[in-house]
Amino acid sequence: MPDKSNDSRSILIVGAGIVGAATAYRMAASGWSVDLVDAVSPAAGASGGSWAWINAISARSDPAYFSFRRAAIAAWHDWDQEFSGALPIDWTGTLLWESDMLDDEPIPPATLLDADGIRSVEPLIATPPKHALSSPDDGLVDGLATVQIFLQAAVAAGARLHFGRLAQALIRDGDTVKGIETNYGKMKASETLIAAGTGSASLLSEVGLTLPTKPKPGLLVITRPVEARMQRAFWSDHIHVKQMRDGSLMIGESEHKPGALDDPAATAEGMLRAAEKMMPGLGPLSIAKTTIAARPIPEDGLPVVGRLPGLSGLTLATMHSGMTLAPLVAELLKELFVNNRVAALLDPFQPERLIRRSKQG
Ligand SMILES: Cc1cc2nc3c(=O)[nH]c(=O)nc-3n(C[C@H](O)[C@H](O)[C@H](O)COP(=O)(O)OP(=O)(O)OC[C@H]3O[C@@H](n4cnc5c(N)ncnc54)[C@H](O)[C@@H]3O)c2cc1C
Repeated sequence: MPDKSNDSRSILIVGAGIVGAATAYRMAASGWSVDLVDAVSPAAGASGGSWAWINAISARSDPAYFSFRRAAIAAWHDWDQEFSGALPIDWTGTLLWESDMLDDEPIPPATLLDADGIRSVEPLIATPPKHALSSPDDGLVDGLATVQIFLQAAVAAGARLHFGRLAQALIRDGDTVKGIETNYGKMKASETLIAAGTGSASLLSEVGLTLPTKPKPGLLVITRPVEARMQRAFWSDHIHVKQMRDGSLMIGESEHKPGALDDPAATAEGMLRAAEKMMPGLGPLSIAKTTIAARPIPEDGLPVVGRLPGLSGLTLATMHSGMTLAPLVAELLKELFVNNRVAALLDPFQPERLIRRSKQG
């Protein structure tokens, strides 16, 4: 494996989820030498089992995080244009009536709808709740397909992808990280980005850094395609449902009931029946497949994006809501790597706030 640690415009990215794929594309398109490794395959982690709702509304109680997510929505629109509309995103909005979503005043463009308003926006909901938030500019993206598109674009811009390659350790020269040890040998570059989702913490622990996380598994049910078309995705107390472009529904569990994953088949069946009951006009539903993936959630729930304290050449990007945030994070990481500038938007999300140094580090 060539040693690129003396090439100041070289980067190794660990993780081919949405964050690693978006960053690989942006860095390769900026003229950098990019090698991306994944232990398995594209979107093998959370990105392949994500409901993939692009939104800011779920963070409206935290002004800094809300602004970050609004900027992320804008970044998706920029990338949608950059990819000439080829990204599988539908900007069709959502309806939300999970109890705690209705606690605060809606922030425009979101509005509060009554039952008639809900029916007019989504006629398939047979018995609407009394009230729901309408968040009209949210996006729904096909996570797996988007990762593949970003990776193809990265390769077209010169990136090299290495699947089935496990990053086992970081190569250190004093306080500088020079790359990774893999099951196929050493790989070196001037910058190493860990975008390994729930696998990030164990790589960091290897250099004496602890990233506290609380990964949360989630079950999704994907149905066989139906003919009727939903107008709006929705998020209720029990389930959330969106329709994919091929007509299939993607149903997620909103309650996160303890023990729900002890018997995933029974939980999936319950989610399917709940969707049928809420939208009888769809006809009988049947399960095409189910997925279970763990959300990579830092302990305080916020993204962790930036250089690691005390080590040069090493950067971390771990977050829940990576589907919402990936293009923005890729742009801000480019700014960090190319211009050595931490964008103000990233200030609240620096690793220092959470990362602890263990004794052996
Ligand atoms: C059920 C569910 C629903 C979700 N819904 C939403 C939503 O509606 N909106 C939203 O914005 N977000 C949502 N998320 C969260 C979002 O999907 C994740 O934040 C995002 O996919 C994380 O992307 P990532 O690239 O950081 O990590 P991942 O997609 O997990 O990718 C990490 C990759 O790193 C690889 N890897 C790990 N360790 C190593 C190693 N040592 N060496 C080499 N490779 C390694 C893995 O194989 C994997 O492919 C949801 C997640 C789940 C599970």
